Amino acid sequence: MAEASINVNKEYDLICVGGGIMSATLALLTKLVQPELNILILERLDAVAKESSAAWNNAGTGHSALCELNYTPETEEGTINCDKAYKIYSQFEISKQFWSFLVEKGAMSSIDFIHSVPHYSWVYGEENAEFLEKRFEALKNHSMFSDMEFTKSKAKMEEWFPLIMKDRGEEEVMAATKMSNGTEVNFEQLTTQLFKILEDEFNTPVHCHMDVLDIDPDDNVEWSVEVKNRETKAVNHYDAKHVFIGAGGGSLLLLQKVEIEEKDGYGGFPVSGEWLVCKNEDIIQQHHAKVYSKAGPGAPPMSTPHLDTRYINGKRELLFGPFAGFSPKFLKEGSNLDLAKSIKFDNIPSMLGAFWHNLPLTKYLLEQVTMSHDDRMNDLRNFIKDAKSDDWEIMVAGQRVQIIKKDEYEGGKLQFGTEVVHSRDGSITALLGASPGASTAVHVMLEVLEIAFPEIVHSKEGKEMLKQIVPFWKEDTNEDLLKKHMKRCKQTLQL
Ligand SMILES: Cc1cc2nc3c(=O)[nH]c(=O)nc-3n(C[C@H](O)[C@H](O)[C@H](O)COP(=O)(O)OP(=O)(O)OC[C@H]3O[C@@H](n4cnc5c(N)ncnc54)[C@H](O)[C@@H]3O)c2cc1C
Repeated sequence: MAEASINVNKEYDLICVGGGIMSATLALLTKLVQPELNILILERLDAVAKESSAAWNNAGTGHSALCELNYTPETEEGTINCDKAYKIYSQFEISKQFWSFLVEKGAMSSIDFIHSVPHYSWVYGEENAEFLEKRFEALKNHSMFSDMEFTKSKAKMEEWFPLIMKDRGEEEVMAATKMSNGTEVNFEQLTTQLFKILEDEFNTPVHCHMDVLDIDPDDNVEWSVEVKNRETKAVNHYDAKHVFIGAGGGSLLLLQKVEIEEKDGYGGFPVSGEWLVCKNEDIIQQHHAKVYSKAGPGAPPMSTPHLDTRYINGKRELLFGPFAGFSPKFLKEGSNLDLAKSIKFDNIPSMLGAFWHNLPLTKYLLEQVTMSHDDRMNDLRNFIKDAKSDDWEIMVAGQRVQIIKKDEYEGGKLQFGTEVVHSRDGSITALLGASPGASTAVHVMLEVLEIAFPEIVHSKEGKEMLKQIVPFWKEDTNEDLLKKHMKRCKQTLQL
């Protein structure tokens, strides 16, 4: 993005590594709260939002637990645990508040990055239908989910998602829930706009082709960041009081180079993804929904199959997936040596422990990797009975690096969420993991902001500013307040 060279002699208050949605969100939040801070953003590729934040590399679901069944697990007692669903719902509301704030201030050039698309959970078989009904009963009394509709009626489902209901036999047992306030988000478009605001309003551009090689302690400031320009091959060092490693899948490898004890024991397990993308315009127009079903046995939670309406580059699209795969790369544009390079003395026990306790996942991934186009089409036919191979093509999605961390009992644990790892003094922060992902970027970057700059966040001015930007953050929201703010976001983002 930025053509001008970077000032080597400057001391930066914050260097953000990576040009994805996380760095964009953190840098903009920081500038809004304290405009005079100097921020430098470094991206190794030739443009921003080309890895996981790219539109085709993720599913674009505004994750708010409206349809994702893995956020409401069934307990051993047979009840439904809704805690995670409430948490994720609130976190997505915080994202919407931030985006609404930017729109209201006239900073966003377009709200085309977000669309209203209903979210459905849809399951087949007696046992799954029973689970879905229990989930509905558990959620419906909470104000967040009070609009949820449940049905076992095929006629109703035909109204909701006709493409899926075509040619269904009377004997098939099914159930579905509907949430009308679901969203489809183009995180690439959003990220690009956030960086544009940083450049235009705060004179903070992203410097591309800048590969961060290392981050070392520095005598004068806190950290010296070693950067190689991939075009000129020149290597330079930049001084920073704070560094945020927002390098997506690349974060672990960088964190491992930083001399802080908090990084010890962390490892990563890469899971790649693929979609079936519909090429037939007639079929694309027959579906306007995000329909999530249940993941199969041994499948990781993010492999829940879903049939999604997308809006990419101004065009409506239809995607099915994701199919999981294995690649030793930590970034789509990464190296085949990434996984091998990430194995260190301090994380061998965690890696072995996690592997040993996740054998069903390994089996599942092996099965997925060996799937042919016909096998994938057969999975799709669980959703669209008469799907034709010629109408669908395979596309490679983004790379997710799941966190492996130390565990007292099992040696190591595989974790499917995200985690902020940071030095005790907060001068270095890194985001590991990928789920629930871009939807909750604002919540997780507020956490980073507070760790890195507590004096700003807790100051009177900081608190006042954050109250305007994200009124929900850290608030015990009562029902009236929740409804008021939700209405505001709905109007501003035209949802
Ligand atoms: C298949 C799939 C489906 C998903 N679906 C959803 C979804 O439906 N909803 C949702 O909310 N989230 C979803 N996610 C997750 C979401 O895409 C990510 O959480 C989010 O995009 C991560 O943003 P990021 O900024 O951390 O990383 P990225 O967007 O990957 O950005 C990191 C950047 O850092 C750069 N970089 C890496 N190493 C270096 C280095 N050494 N020096 C300089 N730059 C570096 C990379 O080139 C990249 O541009 C999905 C992810 C995948 C893979």
